[in-house]
Amino acid sequence: MTANTDIQFLKGVGAKRAEILKSKGIDTVGALLRFFPRKYLDWTKITRVASAPFFENVCVKATITTPIETFETQRGIKIYKFMAEDESGRFTVSLFNQYFLASKLNVGREYLFYGKFDGGFFKQMNSPLIKETNYGGIEPIYTAGKSITSKTIEKLVKNALSMVQMPDVLPENIRKQNNLCDINYALQNIHFPKTKESFERAKRRLVFEELFCLQVALNVIKLKTHKQSGCVIKNNTFESFLGCLPFTLTNAQKRVVGECIADMQSGRPMSRLIQGDVGSGKTVVAAALCFVSAQNGYQSALMAPTEILAEQHYKTLLGIMENTGIKCGLLTGSLTKTKKLEIKAKLKNGEIDVIIGTHALIVNDVEFDNLGLVITDEQHRFGASQRDKLENKGVNPHKLVMSATPIPQTLSYILYGDLDISIMDEYPKGRQKIDTYSVDSSYRQRIYKYIKKFLTDGRQGYIVCPLVEENEELEITSANEYYEKLKNGEFRDYSLGLLHGKMSAREKEQVMTDFANGKIQLLIATTVIEVGIDVPNAVIMLIENAERFGLSQLHQLRGRIGRGQYKSDCILISDSNSPDTAQRLDVIKNSSDGFKIADYDLALRGPGDFLGNRQHGIPQMRIADIFADKQVLLDTGAQAKQLLLSDPTLKQPQNEALRAEVKDLYLKLNK
Ligand code: ADP
Ligand code: MG
Repeated sequence: MTANTDIQFLKGVGAKRAEILKSKGIDTVGALLRFFPRKYLDWTKITRVASAPFFENVCVKATITTPIETFETQRGIKIYKFMAEDESGRFTVSLFNQYFLASKLNVGREYLFYGKFDGGFFKQMNSPLIKETNYGGIEPIYTAGKSITSKTIEKLVKNALSMVQMPDVLPENIRKQNNLCDINYALQNIHFPKTKESFERAKRRLVFEELFCLQVALNVIKLKTHKQSGCVIKNNTFESFLGCLPFTLTNAQKRVVGECIADMQSGRPMSRLIQGDVGSGKTVVAAALCFVSAQNGYQSALMAPTEILAEQHYKTLLGIMENTGIKCGLLTGSLTKTKKLEIKAKLKNGEIDVIIGTHALIVNDVEFDNLGLVITDEQHRFGASQRDKLENKGVNPHKLVMSATPIPQTLSYILYGDLDISIMDEYPKGRQKIDTYSVDSSYRQRIYKYIKKFLTDGRQGYIVCPLVEENEELEITSANEYYEKLKNGEFRDYSLGLLHGKMSAREKEQVMTDFANGKIQLLIATTVIEVGIDVPNAVIMLIENAERFGLSQLHQLRGRIGRGQYKSDCILISDSNSPDTAQRLDVIKNSSDGFKIADYDLALRGPGDFLGNRQHGIPQMRIADIFADKQVLLDTGAQAKQLLLSDPTLKQPQNEALRAEVKDLYLKLNK
């Protein structure tokens, strides 16, 4: 039996259990051994009854001194009650509906009781766990479920540990260098720790292993792109691009363009992420790079997640490139067939220099003459495989991804470990401050009046409807109702528009065009407006049920206003009176720094929720915590690089097990 043996063949697992285990992602014996306990119960540390604290889990060793009495409550709950004592004191024990357990207990015998004390004068313990006194171990508790208990998993793990020797993915020199135990000791002690020290030793090694493998995988990806030679930019024409702009670039914009051009001149393909808060002006950076590429004879592609955005970028780039002789094109799913064919033909024969589009760009029959640069905007909306598809349409083109979701440094290591990172931490001059308020719904009518004042003055605004978690249908129904209600009521004298995710691309585009042209004064929308929309005349935003949104999401939404010369207001409505919500909304009120907000968000919600339900590509960590274990993350990064220097393809025999593990991860990361 080896680590790769199908779980079905492990002693104690039949066809049915195998199915249950597989549904938990446990396909092999090795996977079972890497299914770590969620927590542990320490039965080795015995506390005296007299000195045991209240309301904390403790283990006491006590003798049952009275017969077990049975009561039944009015609701039919059976209570089994008895007294127990050690030499220091006594307490009452109550078991609820636990007939089986109660029937096995004997008066006069000593047991281990694990639970919390409460009560006043008399100590009492409700529903403790009870074991024979010879138990004396640290008990692992697994995330189980109705179909399989923690105890069963524990037994199976025991079987597996006794039958399999796992290969060690950490080469011996790495283990020695970092003073780490071997894998079989680690597995034995993560499941059944003998002592607290052996547990710590096991855990340290497993955390290291997990992060090390991740870092090796990320570095392999990086090496792959860095080896190949790219489409080299010989002629840096950035200076002449500046003449095409109606404004001067911010220092951050200049710096970031400089970093990109240096990459593109280096002889290797660029592989870079721009992280810039909403409104920091990423589009014009993209335009500059498309310009320079075109001047050097290469085509560029700019891919956006929605048609609205693609359309908007197209217009922006058309404007900038107007007198340059550079030809721009737009390719989206909603174009007519003839139009698509025409654009595709022009791309293939090189007539179009810069193509802007949506997913429509990655379909098979889109071909380029000489694709040198691929840019994806709001890249967290795309999977790596979608990016790859576009990149494969050229010969090692430069790639740039742009993200308006500021993420804390540690997280960007994981998400973008294969990319170099440029930060845009400056806003264009003359941007207005956005004031943010949070109120409860009793203010709604007053706020409507306030909004009307802006509309009457010629400004525009947004109302963001409640997010309905996991249910787009409901969300749209509620947005529809909200829209109808305002249109026929409070705002009947104004022109309103509605925007949601289930509208056809054409409908959305029409609404956005009308909004951009000022035909629509107030836009009722779901979160589809979250990304990238740029209408400088929109200066007021009302967000309903603000507590349902993540902080970063609120920040993104708010970034739709405050884009022009007018001062803007963002009003958050929430009737939640949980202190947690108050704290979160305070963060949004008091900060306009996306990175800071992201840090809070992360701290408040944890990494899993951080980027919402979207596909975010963070591999699920088994045991490492990328925040708590940040230092290990950094250390393993350096060691992974070093290892790959001496054995770039992991072909040396001592790296064989590592190679297999990394290959697996690599495929997952590149999905
Ligand atoms: P984001 O980084 O959120 O994608 P955009 O590229 O949409 O930001 O830019 C936001 C707005 O700022 C746009 O209206 C754009 O024209 C404007 N802008 C960008 N750079 C500058 C600049 N250097 N000076 C003045 N306005 C700028
Ligand atoms: Mg943008």
